[in-house]
Amino acid sequence: MSLEKVCIIGSGNWGSAVAKLIGTNTQRHGDLFESTVRQWVFEEKVNGENLTDIINREHENVKYLQGIKLPENIVAVPDVVESCKDATLVVFVVPHQFVRGVCEKMKGHLAPNARAISLIKGLEITSSGTRLFSEEIERILNIPCAALSGANIADEVAKEKFCESTIGCPNIQDGQIFHRLFDTNYFRINVIQDHVGVQLCGALKNVVAVGAGFTDGLGYGSNTKAAIIRRGLMEMRKFGQMFFGDMVQTETFFESCGAADLITTCSGGRNRKVAEAFVTTGKPIDVLEKELLNGQKLQGTLTAAEVNEFLSARKMVAEFPLFHTVYRIVYENAPVECIVRDI
Ligand code: NAD
Ligand code: 13P
Repeated sequence: MSLEKVCIIGSGNWGSAVAKLIGTNTQRHGDLFESTVRQWVFEEKVNGENLTDIINREHENVKYLQGIKLPENIVAVPDVVESCKDATLVVFVVPHQFVRGVCEKMKGHLAPNARAISLIKGLEITSSGTRLFSEEIERILNIPCAALSGANIADEVAKEKFCESTIGCPNIQDGQIFHRLFDTNYFRINVIQDHVGVQLCGALKNVVAVGAGFTDGLGYGSNTKAAIIRRGLMEMRKFGQMFFGDMVQTETFFESCGAADLITTCSGGRNRKVAEAFVTTGKPIDVLEKELLNGQKLQGTLTAAEVNEFLSARKMVAEFPLFHTVYRIVYENAPVECIVRDI
């Protein structure tokens, strides 16, 4: 059996933490994976030097995951085509707004038996409806795509603090391969087949986290946050039931990708942090994203707009008061107090 050749598409905060996991596991499971893993890095200058050169010399992504050493078998590559050439396992971990453009460039360069896994937390909204990123990747590259999502704040994973994560993979054999690619003693994976539910949870929880950040900015306490989390979970499940029907299993909301990720993102995530600052400083979201995140990207406000567009086209915003209120506060100057008044 020939060895799986892994590539990672993306190198932000989560992409870098995941590179550490993958680099370790491809060395550990030499019976299954080639050791060398190419990682596509969106090239930029850091102190006048190419980020890829710094990563390959220092084995550290000094911009997006400072202070964490990457295994030496991770090789940073600035050209996306070169990074994915003949890969059999492709790990997608870019902010959701960049996925389509990157996939278009990768067309025709993967191995014929390639499979992908999406770690992206977001939804693709098209005129005809919502599309999961696994579907978008499958459509453009014509390969099957699983999903991984969980309560996984990148900095904590990189420091090897214990957590769990969920892989949704319809193909059981591929699910076992992805399990070996990601699972460690501090990053425990549960594989299920519901890859739709895994991705829906990962995308929609970011909108809820923005709402939770608003309540922090208002100085409300833990009880209020718990109410936002509970109502958010209900709207996430309702969205899944209404628009994806039997493709989403209720049990998935009790996996790490569901309730657990909601809790962690609403406590320690970037969406929460920026939403809190939106209330306390009065600055626009895009300004705060630049000021507070040092190049990292916010997903929740974009997803709030995308979900709202999808629901308004169906005249269904009233059915999802929390999602709609987050949208109104960010994009329509609704008073931030609406986050409790209008839900
Ligand atoms: P990030 O927000 O830390 O970094 C942004 C990345 O986008 C950088 O690598 C940057 O180089 C790249 N970029 C900037 N402009 C670009 C362009 N025009 N084209 C392509 N790439 C460009 O990224 P991240 O945290 O790795 O997030 C990737 C995905 O992982 C997101 O969907 C996020 O929701 C999800 N995620 C993040 C975390 C976390 O804790 N950071 C945890 C789990 C999941
Ligand atoms: P943020 O993007 O809000 O930091 O959330 C990270 C995450 O998805 C943790 O599981």
